[in-house]
Amino acid sequence: MANAQQPLVGLVGWRGMVGSVLMDRMQSEGDFGLIEPVFFSTSNAGGKAPAQARNEGTLKDAHDIEALRKCDIILTCQGGDYTSEVFPKLRAAGWAGHWIDAASTLRMNDDAVIVLDPVNLPVIQNALAKGGKNWIGGNCTVSCMLMGVGALYKAGLVEWMTSMTYQAASGGGAQHMRELLTQFGTLNAEVRNLLDDPKSAILEIDRKVLAKQQGLSDGEIANFGAPLGGSLIPWIDKDLGIGKSPDEAGWGMSKEEWKGGAETNKILGQGAGFGTVATPVDGFCVRIGAMRCHSQALTFKLKKDVPTVDLEALIAADNAWVKVVPNTREATVKELTPVAVTGTMSIPVGRIRKLAMGPEYVGAFTVGDQLLWGAAEPLRRMLRILLEA
Ligand code: NAP
Repeated sequence: MANAQQPLVGLVGWRGMVGSVLMDRMQSEGDFGLIEPVFFSTSNAGGKAPAQARNEGTLKDAHDIEALRKCDIILTCQGGDYTSEVFPKLRAAGWAGHWIDAASTLRMNDDAVIVLDPVNLPVIQNALAKGGKNWIGGNCTVSCMLMGVGALYKAGLVEWMTSMTYQAASGGGAQHMRELLTQFGTLNAEVRNLLDDPKSAILEIDRKVLAKQQGLSDGEIANFGAPLGGSLIPWIDKDLGIGKSPDEAGWGMSKEEWKGGAETNKILGQGAGFGTVATPVDGFCVRIGAMRCHSQALTFKLKKDVPTVDLEALIAADNAWVKVVPNTREATVKELTPVAVTGTMSIPVGRIRKLAMGPEYVGAFTVGDQLLWGAAEPLRRMLRILLEA
């Protein structure tokens, strides 16, 4: 950036789930040495700023437009309601700084770029050259998927793709993780005595667990709206609410499922907004009882028959974080699970094999830490791109 001094960067939402991971990553990568950070809060203005603060030791009010206007760059992980309320006021007040955001609110706006630079650096650079100012992190599942198999799209091989997701509780935020763990504890407590007795009848354990799951109170399922411990929920986020009959495209589609197609194409710089044809991407998004990491089973129809070994080589060479896991039982159970991947930058892609439908049909399975590549990392890398511009 052109500033002689270090640019003033306002950080909002830094203590939430995504924000805390972002702070860790910025600390590890030395980002704080390149900026003058100002910390904002929606709940504790005047409180003590975190240790990374230098000249601004107290928290500013995240709704104070005058204070926000002083920043060259604002990086927010506060959430969509905050963005909806503050961003228009800030722009209306004439603020011309860069806005980097984890929330989905602005993602599909024409003047916003969904940032995932290992996949779409040319799209980012093009927008930057044209004076772009709004940089939005993508949907966590979409970003992790493209970090894994983006190479197949870049090579122009994909005719269509379906993704069936297995999304962790933490995708909903801190309270959702607590609810899942509490349910696990409640279920375990219900049958602990029976579990301690190796001779107890498994069907009795099963019956008692089911009765407890079905009898959980409203308070015990307040966040997910249904039991998740020992179960799954095949609907994430709102009903998109488009289409009037089951025969219309988009009918009965969740917003999370819609993002798969809309955001994949926008990140790749293709589709109606770019004057090109979009690649169809659709599937079902499912919440499962994993703590962290979103996993997904992918089915591709390729435009031509490509040997599996060539597909693997293409995927492996795409970026520094993707890793092809051999399609063996041993490697899969060791390396291709949320427990193996959580807290790492690695994006393993495995189970790559031709499907029974024909040589152009290929399956794959990928796992990614949705708080890293799916949220915090593309934002901090966008900050770096701006600092180096
Ligand atoms: P979150 O954990 O609920 O944090 C959001 C804000 O809640 C915090 O900045 C904080 O604001 C406030 N808060 C209230 N009580 C808190 C507590 N006990 N601990 C920490 N913070 C508390 O939300 P999030 O999951 O980080 O999501 C933020 C945005 O990122 C959302 O737009 C979300 O859609 C998006 N996103 C999330 C994920 C994910 O996997 N979770 C992935 C991609 C994108 P104050 O400090 O101002 O009070």
